[in-house]
Amino acid sequence: MNWHFLGGTSEVTGSKHILETQQARILFDCGLFQGRRKQADEINHTLDFTVESIDAMVLSHAHIDHCGNIPTLAKRGYRNPVHATSATADLLPVMLRDSAHIHESDAAYLNQKTNRKGLPPIIPLYTLEDAEASFPLLRVHQYNEPIELPGGIRLTHVDAGHILGAALALIEVPREGRAPLRIGYAVDLGRHNLPLLEDPVQMTDLDVLICESTYGGREHGDALDAEAALGDAINRTIARGGKVLLPTFALERAQEIIYHISSLRAKNVIPDVPVFMDSPMAQALSTIFEKNHTYFDAEYKALHKQVGSVITPPWLTFTATVDESKSITSSKEPSIVLAASGMAEHGRILHHLKHGIEDEKNLVLFVGYQAANTLGRRLINGESPVRIFGDMFDVGAEIGVINAFSAHAGRSELRDYIQKARPKQVFLVHGEQEQREALAKLVQDELRIPVALPNNGDVVDFDALD
Ligand SMILES: [Zn+2]
Repeated sequence: MNWHFLGGTSEVTGSKHILETQQARILFDCGLFQGRRKQADEINHTLDFTVESIDAMVLSHAHIDHCGNIPTLAKRGYRNPVHATSATADLLPVMLRDSAHIHESDAAYLNQKTNRKGLPPIIPLYTLEDAEASFPLLRVHQYNEPIELPGGIRLTHVDAGHILGAALALIEVPREGRAPLRIGYAVDLGRHNLPLLEDPVQMTDLDVLICESTYGGREHGDALDAEAALGDAINRTIARGGKVLLPTFALERAQEIIYHISSLRAKNVIPDVPVFMDSPMAQALSTIFEKNHTYFDAEYKALHKQVGSVITPPWLTFTATVDESKSITSSKEPSIVLAASGMAEHGRILHHLKHGIEDEKNLVLFVGYQAANTLGRRLINGESPVRIFGDMFDVGAEIGVINAFSAHAGRSELRDYIQKARPKQVFLVHGEQEQREALAKLVQDELRIPVALPNNGDVVDFDALD
């Protein structure tokens, strides 16, 4: 019984694993590797297996670093099932169509240059057609529903508490003359007290736990403090007559921020100023969140009962066209503007920053992780002036950061989860090396559980572990 670690081991993108028994090969996640173009192209084109050898696929959630290379499977002829929760299956078409659009337009842009030089055209990793060919493969399940996979393998999805529909996988593999081997796949693992979401479900009595380690060496603020910090930031900006410009990811974080604003308005903590969601993708995803409201926690249900919709409330303006978007940038009225992308690298947020970043009354508020070399990271580091659309702008606006929104378990949350899972062996993946090593030390020294840090390409026989 072999586990193949194919991607997303000492990095946080490109998650890809295969469980192989004598009878079956099951693929867990098929994520997009994100990084510098040349390296990303090479990695994403290489699947490290033939699609004919895969009997079924299991998808943990709709983040692009876990699902973003499914269209490549379809393009190469994969036609077996892809098992996911119903919410993940609803989110997937929006995420993959957007990803296909990015790949197609990137290739078209590059081909302007290659055409001029007479070079062969660049083929996009996949197209909209490839993405759409993968949708009929989805098989939809609920949490806690046992799923029979080929080879007698039994799979149960439980709530990961990470984003809407995200699942941890409990995998039970039959063994001759012995109890089934219990494998826990916790990639990605969420946190307690996140808005909208139920807390992660604890898997127990595992033989093997494959666990993410994004924040293996770090803590982030308590999720319960995020709303108060958001309220303070909004109040001080509105009080000085400014706008809150909020770069955000379209999936999950955008809906969480609107939920918090709903809650702050219901408690009269913040004034009723105009709120704009300037992202057609976030609008499409928000509609899917409303449809899947049964996934959400008791706090959501209580607030919904009190004030009605808290994800697409009537006071929230979605801007569809570029003209509508421009009319927000020209208005001087205090307001809250959410727009993608979350790291302010591209997307409509750049227009809002171009028009608003010099104004001392405004606040640019970051509510997500900012990778190195992004405009978001430069602003947080206090750089000024900064380049936006080729022009330099002095940073007059206040730059704010709230870290407590993270959707990943922090160091002590990871330790607690691993401790309660009581695995015989832990494999740490989905973390930069220094984060994995920091968590490995904690697991080894404090919990006294054997821990391994596999690399991409490693194959481990789980049967031989005990
Ligand atoms: Zn994720």
